[in-house]
Amino acid sequence: MSTPRIAIIGAGPGGLMLASILHHNNIPCTIFERDSSAVARAQGGTLDIHEYSGQQALNAAGLMNEFRSVMRLGGDAMKIIRKDGTVLFESDGEEESPKASEQQNGEPTANFVKGRPEIDRPALKDILIASLPTETIHWGCKVTSIDPVANSKQWSIELEDGSRPAPFDLVVGADGAWSRTRALLTDQQPFYSGVTALDVWVHKVDEVAPDVSAFVGLGNCFLWDTNRALLFQRNGQGSEGDARCYACIKTDTKIPPTAQALLGEADDGAEVDWTDARVRERFVERHFGDWFTEVKRILLSMTDTPVLRPMYMLPVGLTWESRPGITLVGDAAHLMTPFAGVGVNVGMMDALELAQGIVTCVKEGTADGDGLAVMLQKYEKGMFARSGEEAAKTASAMRMQFLEDGAEKVIKIMSQGLQPDELVFE
Ligand SMILES: Cc1cc2nc3c(=O)[nH]c(=O)nc-3n(C[C@H](O)[C@H](O)[C@H](O)COP(=O)(O)OP(=O)(O)OC[C@H]3O[C@@H](n4cnc5c(N)ncnc54)[C@H](O)[C@@H]3O)c2cc1C
Repeated sequence: MSTPRIAIIGAGPGGLMLASILHHNNIPCTIFERDSSAVARAQGGTLDIHEYSGQQALNAAGLMNEFRSVMRLGGDAMKIIRKDGTVLFESDGEEESPKASEQQNGEPTANFVKGRPEIDRPALKDILIASLPTETIHWGCKVTSIDPVANSKQWSIELEDGSRPAPFDLVVGADGAWSRTRALLTDQQPFYSGVTALDVWVHKVDEVAPDVSAFVGLGNCFLWDTNRALLFQRNGQGSEGDARCYACIKTDTKIPPTAQALLGEADDGAEVDWTDARVRERFVERHFGDWFTEVKRILLSMTDTPVLRPMYMLPVGLTWESRPGITLVGDAAHLMTPFAGVGVNVGMMDALELAQGIVTCVKEGTADGDGLAVMLQKYEKGMFARSGEEAAKTASAMRMQFLEDGAEKVIKIMSQGLQPDELVFE
């Protein structure tokens, strides 16, 4: 075996990033994705791609120019407002215009974009998918089991239709929060973080609701208070752009509150229809009743696709004993809440470091024998340390943001030149 047979389970940002860097280094792989296509499910959400993590991975796949062409400058604009309407902080974000890749000593330079430019999740996935040969991604292929092949170092994958492709030397679980692959490495399951958000949108916001558009601005607009938060963000470009709000409630419960409990109603298991304006009014009055009138009006005018989202996480600093031929990247390895906005960046760094390990094994001809297993141990050791640190900062950021003076605390830390994922306190 000079080049190992590699399977990646999941075509999210983590799995696609890994495949793209491998392909850039002429190493083929196969991705199995349960969705029938890239647009089978609403992908939503905006992601900020950091200069020293996400952008490094894109650069290793030769995709910085593609990233520059779709990123949203100014998308990292931020407003922080107190619940009485006082604007505590306002920044316009990076406005540097994108330049084409420059040459330095005949070599293209990465030309990284300062700070944390935003990209919509579908746009990021599109760039990564376009970088791969079409045969790499097997859409509509849900993996139902992964088993060691007897008397061999290989793994066999079973798909939902009962078929089993030829065995693989390396299986990478990039299968997200509820990863099936993770069960081969640890019994740990995600647990409820304590925060549930009502997720509401206005599509084509500039056209449909210019007042919401003006309130949210080009990037993020955050309001935090004791056990409550309103997180508004812009998604998408220009006239097609949307606005989204996560209306977050933090509780002490170990399991997520039901929709009825959130409305203060007796819990008889009945469905709650969040598309009903009166239901959303009850929710807003109950949890945000003492917040300033304008923000309540804006929130209630965001009527598209309301969904309740309980947020889960894996324990901070989760590790496992390495097993030859199988590993994890992204949320499968270290699911965290979005309160420091780093999850995708950590996953892209996993992809970069794992790809570098595989490329080195192939170049040095050590993918045979124990080379791959030794590389995986090294990858996991580095990934545990790096992701553990980010998960700890995320957990701290979440605790801080839901305190009475959470907004002031975040601003104080930002005034020291730090970003939410660089917060070290307590
Ligand atoms: C509300 C919210 C806001 C966020 N905001 C930010 C942010 O601003 N910045 C940031 O850095 N991060 C953010 N994140 C985190 C970020 O979205 C995740 O870290 C990132 O999507 C993880 O990528 P992934 O590829 O590991 O997993 P996923 O994106 O979950 O992809 C997993 C893929 O695996 C597939 N799959 C699962 N099981 C199987 C199976 N058995 N067989 C085949 N395929 C399978 C799924 O269909 C999916 O396509 C946010 C997360 C949330 C929830």
